[in-house]
Amino acid sequence: MSWTNYHSHCNFCDGSDEAKVYAEAAAEQGMLAYGFSSHVPMPFFCAWSMKAENLAVYAEEIERLKLEYHGRLQIYRSLEIDYIPGLIGPETSFIKEANLDYTIGSIHFVDSFEDGTHWEIDGTSAIFEDGLQKIFAGDIQNAVTRYYDLTRMMVREECPDVIGHIDKIKMQNPDNKYFSEDAEWYKDEVLRTLDVIAGTKAIIEVNTRGLYKKKTTETYPRKWMLTEILKRKIPVMINSDSHHPKEITSEFETTAALLKEVGFETVKSFVDNKWQDFKFDKNGLILPVNA
Ligand SMILES: [Zn+2]
Ligand SMILES: [Zn+2]
Repeated sequence: MSWTNYHSHCNFCDGSDEAKVYAEAAAEQGMLAYGFSSHVPMPFFCAWSMKAENLAVYAEEIERLKLEYHGRLQIYRSLEIDYIPGLIGPETSFIKEANLDYTIGSIHFVDSFEDGTHWEIDGTSAIFEDGLQKIFAGDIQNAVTRYYDLTRMMVREECPDVIGHIDKIKMQNPDNKYFSEDAEWYKDEVLRTLDVIAGTKAIIEVNTRGLYKKKTTETYPRKWMLTEILKRKIPVMINSDSHHPKEITSEFETTAALLKEVGFETVKSFVDNKWQDFKFDKNGLILPVNA
């Protein structure tokens, strides 16, 4: 099996175990590469992000693991970086100075409450409902539009290498609780976002976490979006967003089958320190014969 996973968490943020436990699990599964992408330290209290004082220790530990696993597993160091205009993003100076191997940019916060508390859109449904009422006066279309607007701003202003879970806001919308994902306005927002991404080198990850956590019935992004991504020739990669060692390749087989069905012939992967296209099947990347 030659899978790779570049979106993962460990106990430097909200993952369950020490980084080494994930590296060992990845090596045991015969993975080709594993990238650590802890939640970036935030400029305000955030229960699930890395503490700023641990950033240097994190860097040291991942670099140490790179050496320890040399020849067995390629290890890479990244961060999952929030984008909040004027506050934090992939181009923030301390992130640039961290010399990451690659960057993942994700939207977890949309605007803020009157008291300045940032509204977490992938937290509990109670927090979601609260922000929707208090910040957007219950107007779900405005709230979702703002989510995609922020995604487009991130791509235009501080484009990361990888766009994290692009339609994550749908986790709050099981059974179309708030809106129909087939509504024209929703499709328009998604397509406008894909058009912006298509003008960059960014890769859209196909994130399996919603599936194996049973929060969603489809990957982030869902199937019709994948068709639109393929039409625009935007590259994709499969990531698990693992927070536990047993999740490092969860739902990869089904997702590879889905990508095949949509028509993708290759996926992007960061191998030998560079982004490369790989053919793939349900067992993982197909490596060139002389690799
Ligand atoms: Zn995330
Ligand atoms: Zn994540």
